[in-house]
Amino acid sequence: MMRFWRKLRWRIFGSHFIVVVAGVTFLLLATEIIISNRTFTAIQPRLMALTQAENASDIELALLALQETYQNTLIFSLLIAAIGATLAGSVTSLLLTSGIIRPLEQIAQSSQRIADGHYDERIEISNTEELDRVATNFNQMAATLAQVEQQRIALIGNVSHELRTPLTGIEGYLQGMMDGVMASDEETFAYMYQEVRRLRRLVDDLQALSRVEAGQIPLHIETFDLSSVVERVVRQLQPQAIAQSLEIEMRCPGNIRAYADADRTAQVLVNLVGNAIRYTPEGGHITVTANLTAKRVEIIVQDTGQGIPPEALPYIFERFYRVDQSRARSSGGSGIGLTISRHLAWAMGGELSATSQGEGQGSTFYFSLPKS
Ligand code: ADP
Repeated sequence: MMRFWRKLRWRIFGSHFIVVVAGVTFLLLATEIIISNRTFTAIQPRLMALTQAENASDIELALLALQETYQNTLIFSLLIAAIGATLAGSVTSLLLTSGIIRPLEQIAQSSQRIADGHYDERIEISNTEELDRVATNFNQMAATLAQVEQQRIALIGNVSHELRTPLTGIEGYLQGMMDGVMASDEETFAYMYQEVRRLRRLVDDLQALSRVEAGQIPLHIETFDLSSVVERVVRQLQPQAIAQSLEIEMRCPGNIRAYADADRTAQVLVNLVGNAIRYTPEGGHITVTANLTAKRVEIIVQDTGQGIPPEALPYIFERFYRVDQSRARSSGGSGIGLTISRHLAWAMGGELSATSQGEGQGSTFYFSLPKS
């Protein structure tokens, strides 16, 4: 019974039914009581008069009086009973519907509060199944909105923080030259140029991030040879690796065919191999392996570098996250690269994850894609 009552459909049906039963019961009871009462007080005296009538005209008069009393009694009792039944039905209906209307009113109020920007608003779970579901979904939506709002605030904070560093640098050089404590020579301009490039890179990364997060990166999905893309990326980054005395080893058997966007795959690989180079000290070793598994193709980028501490591992794909804030910033990283890469991997139907044995133990990144 309780289970039926928790369903809105049966609750509304049940409520109507109870209202009808209450009304009809009141009608019958009231009619019964009034008629039996009036029978005693009004109809019986008329019947007595009829039995005592002595001639035809007296009988006729008594009959007329009886008929009138009977009619009045009937109309009066029905009228009173109908008013009573309406009242009884209305009261029952009000009591029953308030249990349905109250949660709906709360939803209306809460959604208004959320529209006004109070994202901490939540609805109490009601005792009706359908409304319960609405309340649960509503609360979930409010929690997501609160999270998005928090991310938005954090993003503005992060962006302004990131912009401040190069701007402060440029301001310092300009101030120094204006005050005459710094020479307006090629060296100073080269420093300033470095900072401007950093700004430019940051702005480009931010634009790429916003596009990839909005799902606005056009993808050209096709079957392509993964090994040749890996080779191209390694060749592109080789000079950087040589400059840092790093060795890059490639383990890519030919004929591994992926079904994705070749350029975006290369972009992710540039980020992964670039990071491996950046975070591996001189003399280190980087291995890029391509594998074919049952359902996917997988590229593993492994380095013998500084590694990632276990407590940082869950965060490295978040925007602006850097394990070592100061060191990474001086090396030019903005902490957005892996965020963009993971979104690209997801957009192509793939995955990007990382493991590391800890600091100084090197890192391994796994990048999978659908196979052809
Ligand atoms: P960044 O531009 O700072 O490199 P990423 O999003 O590419 O930004 O990387 C985020 C952070 O993850 C880096 O700042 C670094 O701390 C860590 N990280 C990424 N790749 C490696 C790696 N191969 N070895 C060690 N740490 C890494």
